[in-house]
Amino acid sequence: MQEYTQARKTELSERVQAVQEDLAEAAKKAGRAASDVTLVAVSKLHPASDIAALADAGHLDFGENYVQEAAGKQEALQGLDVRWHFIGGLQSNKAKFVAGNFELVHSVDSLKLAKKLAAKAAERGTVQDVLIQASLAGEEQKSGAEADELERLVAEASELDGLRVRGLMTMPPFFDEPERARPFFARLRELREGIGQRLGISLPHLSMGMTGDFVPAVEEGATLVRVGTRIFGARPPK
Ligand SMILES: *Cc1c(COP(=O)(O)O)cnc(C)c1O
Repeated sequence: MQEYTQARKTELSERVQAVQEDLAEAAKKAGRAASDVTLVAVSKLHPASDIAALADAGHLDFGENYVQEAAGKQEALQGLDVRWHFIGGLQSNKAKFVAGNFELVHSVDSLKLAKKLAAKAAERGTVQDVLIQASLAGEEQKSGAEADELERLVAEASELDGLRVRGLMTMPPFFDEPERARPFFARLRELREGIGQRLGISLPHLSMGMTGDFVPAVEEGATLVRVGTRIFGARPPK
């Protein structure tokens, strides 16, 4: 792995600090504790050295989207104290590369995928924590379970040995105006409350909010925000 420079470490930790400050302010406005919201730094397409720099500065949570890229970084950064989050679209035939290797998988959107993750995790003697991804924007948004299928998927996934459903995730369509994303965040929180109550299970986590819209997401109850660009800068093309 390429060494990071002190300048890069300083730059990245200042950006994380700035995001944490905005996040704390949004939490306060909503009467929530800042410590109830975890900042997941989305490092996809950025070098492992950036993760090492931030980890050495004390940041814990990192999000990756691509199986191979994530595996390469995990290998390069073995022994580093970080929590890995898988946040990208995941084909069920790749579940075996993910199960047991991530603290939390945010993007479970089908029973097929849930079953594969559960089976692999169980085989490896572990339990995989997951979120169920909801698609709340109809045609505009292909990934995630539609609202009317969501409860059933949560119920069925919760029955699987090797899997623990911890909450819901969503990604609204992109808007220039972050306030326009707010109704999607409010909707996810309502769904979480309704589903949790009807199924009698605890769904503590809501993963919602990215660089452009994490402030309204936190105000609406996000417990995990996934921020990439604002921390690492623009991503190189894949
Ligand atoms: C890339 C990505 C992010 C981070 O997006 P930014 O706009 O760069 O903050 C968050 N969530 C998911 C699912 C992503 O794929």
